[in-house]
Amino acid sequence: MPARAFTASGSEAPFAAASPAPAYAFYPTPQAMGEHIGAEEYRRALEHSNAAARPLSLYVHLPFCQQACFHCTRRPVTTSDTRLAEAYLSRLDREMVLTGRHLDAGREIRALQWGGGTPTFLTLDQMGDLIDRLDARFRLAGDRDREYLIEIDPREADVFTLRHLEALGFNRLSLEVLDLDPEVQQAINRQQGRDLTEQLLDEADRLGFTSVNLNLILGLPRQTRDGFAATLEQVIAMAPSRLSLFHYHHQPERFPRQRRIRPEDLPAPQEVQGMLQAAIERLAAAGYVHLGHDRFVRGDDRLAQALEAGRERHDLVGLGVMAVSRLEALHVRNPQRLEAYEAALDRGQLPTAGGHRLSLDDRLRSAAIEQLTCDLHLDLASLGDAFGLDATAHLAEPLSRLALAEGEGLVERHGQRLLVTSAGRLVVRQLASAFDAYLPAPSPRQASPTS
Ligand code: SF4
Repeated sequence: MPARAFTASGSEAPFAAASPAPAYAFYPTPQAMGEHIGAEEYRRALEHSNAAARPLSLYVHLPFCQQACFHCTRRPVTTSDTRLAEAYLSRLDREMVLTGRHLDAGREIRALQWGGGTPTFLTLDQMGDLIDRLDARFRLAGDRDREYLIEIDPREADVFTLRHLEALGFNRLSLEVLDLDPEVQQAINRQQGRDLTEQLLDEADRLGFTSVNLNLILGLPRQTRDGFAATLEQVIAMAPSRLSLFHYHHQPERFPRQRRIRPEDLPAPQEVQGMLQAAIERLAAAGYVHLGHDRFVRGDDRLAQALEAGRERHDLVGLGVMAVSRLEALHVRNPQRLEAYEAALDRGQLPTAGGHRLSLDDRLRSAAIEQLTCDLHLDLASLGDAFGLDATAHLAEPLSRLALAEGEGLVERHGQRLLVTSAGRLVVRQLASAFDAYLPAPSPRQASPTS
């Protein structure tokens, strides 16, 4: 499939921060994965990864939420009955057993993440039981330097939840704040007072959690520059160690809940870009360092900066519905639908629903995307050395499209080095998507300078 083309000539469409571009947690993205990779290939990749002895991380997906937010893209199961999670947890345990059979029992899990949905939808007993099962099936690290992260909806956690999580071994939190403006919260069906987040931050500090990340989202309905600036001031006053600024993309045809959002309530792309620009400047003034991607860390969070600088390649095993695993050159994904996930496990099979074996070209593009989005520059010479080829020649087509971005002041080319400018930081994902060979070409209307 041809990669997406850029246009210049003053059009904001290709580079606008509010225009959809993948987050690139994986390249190719899960949407680009085919269905031809099955459980047998996954089993072989797990066994092969033992010999390579790379660090091993686990991701556990918990899909339940009490209430549906209209902007959500995660397809959660909404219920207030925590007993419904029991059947899921037992399937999850079956998946752990089937997966663990192929992994060397001596491989220590130094990084664990629970995401969702809302992981704290589970009762305290269910959370404790899940950690016990993980510990029984895998070798969870016991030292303080491990990185155990849980995503938290502040509406569904309190100080007792945090104490319990700390006792279970979690040492990092990611709290969904999104926006503190009541108008915006009403438009996305999510009422969440500032005090909920403050209480959790205070308790996390007291308990000695090593980092707390707050997630905000730009581009939500009824968001305004003034309103978002007020949210940011309140968040800066809470002094979290890390902050993420994500973008809302309105795709009601893909995510039916978004049909509850009125298109006329959405801020214009220029407004979103203005909010992002102002946020980057305000966060810099408040002492936050922009790490690239959507991430910011407080200047004194040296650990986060060191970890970012020393990114290491590790194998990732994803467990649960919608989870994705990455084992060097093989990515596999579990089913999107809960029924399909549960049916595979009830047949005693790993629930692999597809995946992608990365070619050399995929790996090169993946490295280019990672370097550009995380480091805000791309060194083509060292990239080529790492892959034993001429990266400038191999990536000539995406580089020629980025030349258009150079004309718009978003990147600078200095020989073999490509630098993202301060204006380009606002659209770094869109710039990185030049290297994505799986994105569909834009329709003529999208590509039009006047669109
Ligand atoms: S709490 Fe999070 S996962 Fe659940 S519906 Fe809201 S945004 Fe989606």
